[in-house]
Amino acid sequence: MVFPLLPVGLVDSTIFLLPLPKLIGRMDTKLITDKIVAAALDVGFSACGVTDTQPLNEQGKHLQNWLRLGYNGTMKYMENNLDKRLNPSLLAEASKSAIVVLLNYKPERTIATDKPQVSKYAYGTDYHFVVKNKLNRLLRRIQTEIADCRGVAYVDSAPVLEKALAVKAGLGWIGKNSLLINKQFGSMTFIGTLFVDIPLCYNTHIVPDGCGNCRRCMDACPTQAIVAPRVIDASRCVSYLNKTHRGTVPEDLQTLVGNRIWGCDCCIDVCPYNKQTPVHNTQELMPRDELFELDLAAISKRQLKKLIMRLPPRNQSGTGS
Ligand code: SF4
Ligand code: SF4
Repeated sequence: MVFPLLPVGLVDSTIFLLPLPKLIGRMDTKLITDKIVAAALDVGFSACGVTDTQPLNEQGKHLQNWLRLGYNGTMKYMENNLDKRLNPSLLAEASKSAIVVLLNYKPERTIATDKPQVSKYAYGTDYHFVVKNKLNRLLRRIQTEIADCRGVAYVDSAPVLEKALAVKAGLGWIGKNSLLINKQFGSMTFIGTLFVDIPLCYNTHIVPDGCGNCRRCMDACPTQAIVAPRVIDASRCVSYLNKTHRGTVPEDLQTLVGNRIWGCDCCIDVCPYNKQTPVHNTQELMPRDELFELDLAAISKRQLKKLIMRLPPRNQSGTGS
């Protein structure tokens, strides 16, 4: 079969020709991708980028080195499913594209410093549900309005290297505190990924490192857990010690944890990229008054955990509404 040819460019007076169906296919893919990004913003995400599901070789080396040094502490699960972590196409079979989204969680108010401190990301409803709910809404929008496809959404719930995918999707760079930093929204964002089985137009612009000579996060870390730029010794990180660590926290570290009862925002609060960012307006993430006046003497550790990891009402669970 002979395809009609269209001129697509002139270099040194040479005309390059592409078969017409191929050109139209590319235009369709670009249009579909643009519509998906627009739909992601429309369902409430702060930013969206699209990338492929090819192996994450560079990030793989970094992760393997980090594990070899034992910086994952007692989080042994980080050593499982390494092949899937490093190769997203193995995780979501038949997936061709990763639609990566950010959801801003910078709150309009913060807990007074003399009160028990809960990390800002936990002020509202559990983000796993909020982000997954929106991703499932996005998937339905894509399926009904944009393109016939199958998809699966992940939010911190599977071995996905979300930060690495977000970088590949052009959403920011990894700061020295090892968090994704987006120029517009800083590092106070949740990351979610929707894998779909259709090809899309992939980001080609990697955002350059914007940390430069700054090292405020490293200097502000109460336990010196940032042992080198982008390398966190989780076994010293407050956020690990007061949420994930099993067993007794060594006394010297316990003192440094101070009044932080859930997570730690020290390396986030000092980052200049978080100063000018807008506060979020996502209803489900609005700060809960009960977290601002916690009486630790009147509440058990278990009750505290239940309170902080608040689930949404049944009809708003991860299946979407
Ligand atoms: S979360 Fe706190 S303890 Fe962990 S690296 Fe950041 S500043 Fe250090
Ligand atoms: S505080 Fe400075 S070094 Fe740390 S992540 Fe922010 S910009 Fe980068």
